[in-house]
Amino acid sequence: MPRLLLLIPTTTYKTTDFVEAARRLDVDVVIASEKPSTLERALPNHLWTLDLGAPEAAAADVAARSAGRPIDAVVAVDELTTVVAAAVAERLGLRTNPVEAVRASRSKALQRPRLRDAGVRVPEFRLASLDDDRDALAADTSYPCVVKPTSLSASRGVIRADDPISFVAAVGRIDAIVERAIEEEAVDRGADRSILIERFVPGGEVALEGLLIDGSLRVLALFDKPDPLDGPFFEETIYVTPSELDEELQRAIADEVEAGCRALGLAHGPIHAELRLPPAGPTILEIAARTIGGLCARTLRFGTGRSLEELVLRHALDLELDLERQPRPAGVMMIPIPRRGTLERVGGVEEAEAVEGVEDVTITAHRGQLLEPLPEGARYLGFIFARAESPTAVCTALRQAHAHLNIAMAEPSTQ
Ligand code: ADP
Ligand code: CA
Repeated sequence: MPRLLLLIPTTTYKTTDFVEAARRLDVDVVIASEKPSTLERALPNHLWTLDLGAPEAAAADVAARSAGRPIDAVVAVDELTTVVAAAVAERLGLRTNPVEAVRASRSKALQRPRLRDAGVRVPEFRLASLDDDRDALAADTSYPCVVKPTSLSASRGVIRADDPISFVAAVGRIDAIVERAIEEEAVDRGADRSILIERFVPGGEVALEGLLIDGSLRVLALFDKPDPLDGPFFEETIYVTPSELDEELQRAIADEVEAGCRALGLAHGPIHAELRLPPAGPTILEIAARTIGGLCARTLRFGTGRSLEELVLRHALDLELDLERQPRPAGVMMIPIPRRGTLERVGGVEEAEAVEGVEDVTITAHRGQLLEPLPEGARYLGFIFARAESPTAVCTALRQAHAHLNIAMAEPSTQ
């Protein structure tokens, strides 16, 4: 029986879906996380604690622990474990993206120049630091621009500025967000204070979910994002697939993403890319060596009903693959966080679930949890999933369901 190692950061939303996918395969699973589990002593061959923030040490640790019983595949369950997964796989001699390539994709500071230098279309950008003279940076920037920390994700700290005054305010706000993320260890150890200042790229936006097989990109799904993302903050709401863009543009998007992966040196496993679609052509905002964020992958089903996570595991284990997405249009809404506060309750879930086309409403935040809108926020409130005869009908169902939700929040405690 093949042995699979899943590297699961404690903050991920995807534990259940990956563990369920593994359970459906005939594999021996080891789950490694950075925080010790109370069950670990009872299941020493299945639950490990690894220092996921220290790739080389974790790799040595895994090599030692698996000496008697080799690991056949290592899978990163989320962004935070992609580098350590590559380091472990490299150490064990398994097929993997080079650590260096994953590191480059993980950091906005490394990814942008790498893509640009390879001729892949990216926003015009400049790297700077939170410690630079902010008025000087503001004077030296063309507007509108987008400022973002290089080490965060999920649109956290991404702010549009239209003039020098809002630019300086944005940088101040990003500074506080980065400091907090470092304190909360929500970023890689050694995350720094660098920022990207980019030209704001107008136009629609899409997300591409793909699987790299020996360097060639198989598109699993292209998602349209029907709500405009014009800032100043970039809260994601609806993702719907299949895309309604014309075939030629869809091909151009896939070609740009494939070129981007090649430029980064990524050749194996899942990728999640986001692109803006200005008249000049598809422009890459990011390529990540992981699956889509949150629970959004639940919109996708393949072949006879496999999940995206199952495809990723099957690919890692070299099992037979059927990459055909089930064709029925599907979508997800990441439920917007109405304001800063602690969650008291979400009413109307049953009514929302009763809307035709709606498959599920999952509230992931727990009662009493502090919720913050972007740009500070980092956690989701929940997700609405729908399937219908057309992408438009999917969006309508999601919006109708959302209108039924009644989100009760209390003032955040000052502590
Ligand atoms: P993160 O990795 O935190 O998600 P992104 O770089 O993907 O950061 O930015 C998050 C969102 O902000 C994007 O999905 C997009 O809507 C918007 N955005 C980021 N950079 C730009 C840009 N240069 N032009 C226009 N929109 C942008
Ligand atoms: Ca993004």
